[in-house]
Amino acid sequence: MDENLPVAVIGAGPIGLAAAAHLLERGLVPMIFEAGPSAGAAIEQWRHIRLFSPWRFNLDAAAVRLLEPTGWESPRLTALPYGGELVDNYLAPLAATPEIAARLQTGSKVVAVTRKGMDKTHVRDRDATPFTVRVEHTSGEVRDYTVSAVIDASGTWSTRNPLGTSGLPAIGEDRAAVRISSPLPDVSGRDRGSFAGRRVLVVGAGHSAANTLINLADLAKEEPETGILWAVRGASAEKVYGGGDADGLPARGQLGARLRRLVESGRIELHTSFGISSFTDSEHGLTVTSGDGRALVTDVVVPCTGFRPDLDMLRELRLNLDPAVEAPTELGPLIDPEFHSCGTVPPHGAKVLAHPEKDFYIVGMKSYGRAPTFLLATGYEQVRSVAAALAGDQVAADTVHLELPETGVCSSDAGTSCDVPAASSATEEIEEAGGCCGTPEPVLIGIPTGLAHGRSGG
Ligand SMILES: Cc1cc2nc3c(=O)[nH]c(=O)nc-3n(C[C@H](O)[C@H](O)[C@H](O)COP(=O)(O)OP(=O)(O)OC[C@H]3O[C@@H](n4cnc5c(N)ncnc54)[C@H](O)[C@@H]3O)c2cc1C
Repeated sequence: MDENLPVAVIGAGPIGLAAAAHLLERGLVPMIFEAGPSAGAAIEQWRHIRLFSPWRFNLDAAAVRLLEPTGWESPRLTALPYGGELVDNYLAPLAATPEIAARLQTGSKVVAVTRKGMDKTHVRDRDATPFTVRVEHTSGEVRDYTVSAVIDASGTWSTRNPLGTSGLPAIGEDRAAVRISSPLPDVSGRDRGSFAGRRVLVVGAGHSAANTLINLADLAKEEPETGILWAVRGASAEKVYGGGDADGLPARGQLGARLRRLVESGRIELHTSFGISSFTDSEHGLTVTSGDGRALVTDVVVPCTGFRPDLDMLRELRLNLDPAVEAPTELGPLIDPEFHSCGTVPPHGAKVLAHPEKDFYIVGMKSYGRAPTFLLATGYEQVRSVAAALAGDQVAADTVHLELPETGVCSSDAGTSCDVPAASSATEEIEEAGGCCGTPEPVLIGIPTGLAHGRSGG
């Protein structure tokens, strides 16, 4: 690759910024494009959620080396930050360092990546040809940038899974968009006005759904007109309740038990085996119909159905993706949620993340495709390795090392996936007590998903 050209980094989330820090250490020049108004724009959307991993696993080493000379003070490494704290105390100062600030363009959405002057079918000199990155700026201007390599760290937050069954949007879902909230609204805080006193349907059976439901129940205490409906595809919500009062992780169990009580008391109206087939909007509200003809009427829908990667912008690149998970082919089987929980994913780097398109990498949350189990610590090791590979240091690129506690940073127990931990109001003031994952309480996780060792695990 042409080392005189910059390396494009798509996304200024934690992994994109860490990639930039590692590139700088390697003497390469990053050019960072961020679609949102500031770094950490996706996390900004869930700033009211507490992370389930303590600070020490949420900081990248190269990023810290950039921050330290600025007088930045490291947070207490054992504390569990909120999303907002991750932005305010880490990502924003990192984006403001002179090295990053000079190379970061916010309000700049990458819409396509290709090889300069050639489409996907052309092979001659392909590996040596620079990339073109097409960017839409908020000013309305669209520009093509020429770069030597591309690191796609754009996450999956902007592409939630559709609400319909079979992986497709339900009929009428697009037209109902105004009644569908973001995936993790702050129902009792910032977004309260959209939920107070209204009928709310929560769809999904993961941590996100569970925490939103509990927060809605808190809201309903103050705003009794608030109606809470909950639709799950499965025949029961047992796996969301977990072990209840007998749960091995007491705080997690309490949360599950609380949700069960809310359902049993009728405060939350649960609808099982409810696969959504259509949405019809009218002056009376949004009618949500299941495949077997049942209908629910609501004012707002909260979609807690997970995320998938946006692959459209990569259409002109030669990718090698796992057919099920949409992660790089070699990574897919390591993270397939059918078989793995987050603690069981081995560290990996450039080699596993490589595509037939030389010098192009998908990293971070997006590298996990549809699997929900990504951890920041894993991503930091990914980008350390990728930067080494781009700089030609194959030995460093191939030496992947990641010291996660045996049980993973997401849980001291299997039985959880890592995508969405407890919301603020659903947890007590929590801090990691002694040693990594030494305490199970960082409940972060709150609710078991049944992913003991993946969906099909025992
Ligand atoms: C609620 C929640 C809690 C989590 N808690 C933890 C935790 O405790 N510990 C842990 O290790 N992991 C946790 N994760 C998982 C994961 O670490 C986070 O999702 C993390 O934000 C992923 O970082 P990222 O940089 O890959 O992606 P993101 O943080 O999503 O950043 C991607 C960035 O790219 C930008 N972008 C998107 N598309 C484009 C485009 N086309 N052009 C330019 N920019 C674009 C976005 O605006 C965003 O700023 C959590 C995830 C969620 C959703």
